[in-house]
Amino acid sequence: MNADLARALQVVEHDLRIAGVPLPEVRDVPEQEWRHHAHQPCAMLLAVDGSGQRVSCLVDDAPVEQLRSVADQVQEWVHEELCRLERSVAWPRCPTHPLTHPLSAVVIDEAAWWVCPLDRRGVSPIGQLGVTARSSRPTRGGR
Ligand SMILES: [Zn+2]
Repeated sequence: MNADLARALQVVEHDLRIAGVPLPEVRDVPEQEWRHHAHQPCAMLLAVDGSGQRVSCLVDDAPVEQLRSVADQVQEWVHEELCRLERSVAWPRCPTHPLTHPLSAVVIDEAAWWVCPLDRRGVSPIGQLGVTARSSRPTRGGR
């Protein structure tokens, strides 16, 4: 698998494990299947029922943006999977508004963060969910 994509998936996997949400089986997509988009390597996220969703990153993006993008795509997969299992679809859970919305993947100051979409507060760096209980800090800029 493309090293950038593999690294981003590995970082996000930590946040899946710590939250106890379903983990996808990651299957590499052979290079001949994406060579016409050589700047965008991809893999498949597979659910236990065999359904799959494509995940990709842009090789020209900075690693932090690759991580944000992959986290966003994995979040979409988790959302679908939790819906299918009829579980709460909030992953990662917003500590301030647990019943309202999940956190969003955002780049702040050259780092990828899980951010509350309402108050724009950074809750945890992506890949460090639940590692430090008080990693919250106000956002500056970002997207
Ligand atoms: Zn919130």
